[in-house]
Amino acid sequence: MRAWEKNIRRVVPYVPGEQPKKSNIIKLNTNENPYPPAPGVRKVLREFNTDRLRLYPDPTIESLVEELAKYYKLDQKQIFVGVGSDDVLAMAYLTFFQPDKPILFPDITYSFYPVWCDLFRVPYETIPLDEEFRIRPEDYRRDNGGVIIANPNAPTSIYEDLSVIEEIIKYNQDSIVIIDEAYIDFAGRSAMELIHKYENLLVVQTFSKSRSMAGMRIGYACGNPVLIKALNDVKYSFNSYTLNQLAIVTGIEAVKDRAYFNEGINKIVSTRNEAEVKLASLGFSFPKSGANFIFATHKTMSAETLFEELRKNDIYVRYFKLPRIDNYLRITIGTDDEMKILYDFLEKYL
Ligand SMILES: *Cc1c(COP(=O)(O)O)cnc(C)c1O
Repeated sequence: MRAWEKNIRRVVPYVPGEQPKKSNIIKLNTNENPYPPAPGVRKVLREFNTDRLRLYPDPTIESLVEELAKYYKLDQKQIFVGVGSDDVLAMAYLTFFQPDKPILFPDITYSFYPVWCDLFRVPYETIPLDEEFRIRPEDYRRDNGGVIIANPNAPTSIYEDLSVIEEIIKYNQDSIVIIDEAYIDFAGRSAMELIHKYENLLVVQTFSKSRSMAGMRIGYACGNPVLIKALNDVKYSFNSYTLNQLAIVTGIEAVKDRAYFNEGINKIVSTRNEAEVKLASLGFSFPKSGANFIFATHKTMSAETLFEELRKNDIYVRYFKLPRIDNYLRITIGTDDEMKILYDFLEKYL
């Protein structure tokens, strides 16, 4: 090894789902939304004056923060915006989680959480979900340096009632608790209402799933102004200009169009309900989904084999070769036509 190589920071990176170059595939592997973003997004992109690109974007992202504040009936001081929720979560780790005490999260959850721990040198303890992949809130009554919970959880798809989440927050008022709500719009009540009650709560959401804008990279966190100011201070110590001009103007359009948003959610939830019936009849079992995906295991066929076979037939789903979940497939809800192709294949193959 050359001497300077000893100076290289070594990390084991998060592995995102595949983005195949091929067209004409059925892509149900990264929980993207199968429908286009709100029509206003297309309109502002067409009308965008490219001369403006000479200038830096607004570092405060004020116009988008204002739109989100209106939507959630919050003060602008309660909202932080970043480049997708991955960026917001990374900033939150850097701001709120320290090297002296372990943070807590479930053993089965978003696999980015331990990666940020390694990157930011934050120790962690994983808390096992029960046999049904449910969170036991009483397990979070122990000394910690912070807590992060995805609700609905990924990749299990399970939505825990807000009372379960509140119980965790309530017993951890000396820590900062982050609730990652990437899929909340497909589920039920958000923890957003609790930020008025608990100063230690940060709720993180994204435009990537329910707002069909994974490609634009917009995420946000809501919490009390002390948390939000701390996040902004860290952001300005790292990179002042996070969102680009196009993300800001299109993000506003996506938030404004509530009718389009609700219609999109309803379509996905209805396809998901059908998928649950269909997959059950094909011999799959799965927890009740509160997300835009189903986490399914088959009674006879191994998940790994099925994953490979589906892939050979240009149907991409996600498979995690990890303890406890290595016989499950995470299947994103696509359009009705895409789902039909999946069912037809499964019917023939099984
Ligand atoms: C998709 C996802 C994210 C990241 O979304 P962004 O595209 O970075 O906004 C964060 N947390 C969970 C649980 C997710 O599934």
